[in-house]
Amino acid sequence: MLSTLLSLLSDLFYPHTCPGCGEGVPGPLALCDRCRDGVYHPRPFHPGSLGCPHLDGLFFLFDYAGAIQEALHKAKFEKREDLLPRLAKEWQEGVAREGRFRWQLPADVALSVTAIPTDPARRKKRGYDVPEEIFRPWAQKNGYRWEPLLQRVRPSRPQFSLSPTERKENIQGCFGLVPGAALPDIVLLCDDICTTGATLEEAAKVLKQGGVKKVYGLALASSN
Ligand SMILES: [Zn+2]
Repeated sequence: MLSTLLSLLSDLFYPHTCPGCGEGVPGPLALCDRCRDGVYHPRPFHPGSLGCPHLDGLFFLFDYAGAIQEALHKAKFEKREDLLPRLAKEWQEGVAREGRFRWQLPADVALSVTAIPTDPARRKKRGYDVPEEIFRPWAQKNGYRWEPLLQRVRPSRPQFSLSPTERKENIQGCFGLVPGAALPDIVLLCDDICTTGATLEEAAKVLKQGGVKKVYGLALASSN
């Protein structure tokens, strides 16, 4: 009740504006309708075409461009924590509109949703974990088990400045299983951005080596 009141007051005094065009956005979403239309591109994507043999499917909601790129940049590098629940809402509404991912997920197996863990040093500097903040509310709302299955076991450089080959090398051996984590049969593995697929592939490899049968990658935005 108090939080609803505070959020109403905050909307009144600090109305949210679209990160793409600066226009006011009423309601809980991040982007204005026009900017969303420019980058909204929900699609399953074949992991084979990215050279990701440990992934069984990929689903992206936006093209990594325009307003969504701007929003993610602000959330990651300009401390715009206020954008995170709005990006979470973009994901929830987009996936609901698309009827999930169009994959046939068996109903009677153990399924968990987990996020690519952010490098601890970057997480500490930011104060939050972007993939977790975007995907956890959706998982919990839909009754999926949300649990940390992966951890960083060695630091990596930020991927965005690297070439595709460097990205693969940079991320190799970065992830390990969280000790004691009970691995399910199916994992929905979430990240905010997918470019070369190297991060999702490396994480999927670790999960599969641990005994997970199927790993599907989900990303809010992708440049593919
Ligand atoms: Zn806009």
